[in-house]
Amino acid sequence: MRADKRKKILLIALGGNALIRGNQTGTLAEQLENLKVPIREIARLSREYRIIITHGNGPQVGNLQLQQESCAAVPRMPLEILVAQTQGQIGYMIESTLDSELMALGIVTQKYIVSLISYVVVDENDPAFQNPTKPIGPVYSEEQAAALPYPTRRTAKGYRRVVASPRPLTIVEKREIRELIKRDFIVICCGGGGIPVIREGRSFCGVDAVIDKDLASARLAREVGVDIFVIATDVKGVALHYGQPDQQYLRTLSFEEALNYRNQGHFPEGSIWPKIEAGMQFLGDGGQAASICAIDEIEAAVFGKAGTRIIPS
Ligand code: ADP
Ligand code: MG
Repeated sequence: MRADKRKKILLIALGGNALIRGNQTGTLAEQLENLKVPIREIARLSREYRIIITHGNGPQVGNLQLQQESCAAVPRMPLEILVAQTQGQIGYMIESTLDSELMALGIVTQKYIVSLISYVVVDENDPAFQNPTKPIGPVYSEEQAAALPYPTRRTAKGYRRVVASPRPLTIVEKREIRELIKRDFIVICCGGGGIPVIREGRSFCGVDAVIDKDLASARLAREVGVDIFVIATDVKGVALHYGQPDQQYLRTLSFEEALNYRNQGHFPEGSIWPKIEAGMQFLGDGGQAASICAIDEIEAAVFGKAGTRIIPS
């Protein structure tokens, strides 16, 4: 199969929170239902674009952690293994949904799909290891949290385990992904930001951390030569005064506006800011267009009709 050289490469980052909505517990049926609309849109887009899908895993990795903690009979696995497990489970859900949607469009025989277990290299001296900030997993009371064998932090929801969130340096499987994309395979990769690894001599060693999937996606985009980057989440785009009565969604956001609004406190570190930062990095690296949009408005965002478009200033 020869890929059409003129087909642009579109990277879509699906939010883990958009696959398990706020009022849901995360059953398989719920997650498959939530995937239908975005995956149908991606299936349609695959006629015009070469496609890479990345995805988050916040709620899913949290559920796995909770499952582990409620079962003493089976040995507990470290976070790197839980991230790998979520790449498998979410990759499978995306792949099987995509298969059905491509079939419904009648283009399944022309498309190959592959889900890749992906490692992402981080720096063992990253300052994030000294200051774990990323909340994962269940919410605890203050007394429960004090008894846990790992650091916890008080968040808006209650006490939660916090882990280090180091910066992604390079995607280990970038050559494989490049080759697959050249052949017009649809590639699902970098799930949950990738399995964080450090280099030890000639091998890689997993570490107890989680990488932000939007920053990992921006790094992948640069390493693979992506043209268009869409970050799909559970809100319509980037807002000023988010959650307040005067909340206002933005159609465009320049670099300068982004930095100013961030200084004014509009964009929290752990959620919307990494998406904006990822979009800015992508454009700074030569990408053509970057948008942040709702999970059911991916097509409209690609055509510039929905979401917040980040524009170089
Ligand atoms: P994902 O799983 O897609 O990575 P996150 O929860 O990390 O989702 O980030 C998206 C969330 O960011 C939204 O659900 C929203 O609650 C929050 N958010 C905080 N500030 C803003 C803002 N200024 N504009 C839009 N969303 C915001
Ligand atoms: Mg996130």
